[in-house]
Amino acid sequence: MKWLVLTMVLLAAPALADTPAKVLFSAVDTSSNHRTAPIGSYARGCVAGAVQLPESGPNWQAMRLSRNRHWGTPELVGFIERLGQSAADIGWNGIYVGDMSQPRGGPMNGGHKSHQIGLDVDVWLLPPASLDLSARQRENISSLNVRSADQRTVNSNWTPEHMAVLRAAARDPAVARIFVAGAIKMQMCADARRGDRRWLRKIRPWWGHNTHFHVRLNCPRGARNCENQAAIPRGDGCADAEWWVTDALAPPPPPDPNAPAAVPRPPKPEITLATLPSQCTGVLQSE
Ligand SMILES: [Zn+2]
Repeated sequence: MKWLVLTMVLLAAPALADTPAKVLFSAVDTSSNHRTAPIGSYARGCVAGAVQLPESGPNWQAMRLSRNRHWGTPELVGFIERLGQSAADIGWNGIYVGDMSQPRGGPMNGGHKSHQIGLDVDVWLLPPASLDLSARQRENISSLNVRSADQRTVNSNWTPEHMAVLRAAARDPAVARIFVAGAIKMQMCADARRGDRRWLRKIRPWWGHNTHFHVRLNCPRGARNCENQAAIPRGDGCADAEWWVTDALAPPPPPDPNAPAAVPRPPKPEITLATLPSQCTGVLQSE
């Protein structure tokens, strides 16, 4: 009997090895039976023994429940609790929480390159009108765009409370960095007070991020298999942010008719189990 099982595993193995990891990880709807551990890097890894954020808490609601992406490390859940409290202190009803990680982390079918190790969370820029939303409302309502149509500035949806919530998030010692639209970073650079700008360096401009901000935590202490990102460059990052609201938005130059035809770049290979940290196979296959 044993050899039969083994043969089946071996026959199935090449297919498993070639299957995009996003297909495998998105098919599992519970966390693995391990002690919690983020494994690998934010955009290439998985999370063992993830915990699930409760659908609602005193100062938050999880949105888009059908995606089943509200899993992460206890450190991430703790951060969300703290940020919800800060938002309440600032005058919001709390926060709406977007995607965290899948039950076992890993790559996803659509949406994110990172969020793979239970240390990333998207927080909506929509101040909650209510923390009594039904599951259906959580599927259907949209967040708030705080950026102008030309992408160079914030629009009239941006408020001092947005600034205060982002500042509270950035000052949390567990937080490594926060991604926002370039226009948001520029506005925060303009508004941050002198003598209180140290936290501003953690606010990083990136594509999108005009309806939510993305918080990334440091690897928790003792997480031996978790890889931090390279350190943020010194300074508040405000001069570098200019590029995001100027050159980054310029249309590409027209193609040179005399130039040789460009060789199309091959698509980036999909992440597979073989290209994830080896422990992720055990995380995927655990009970
Ligand atoms: Zn994100």
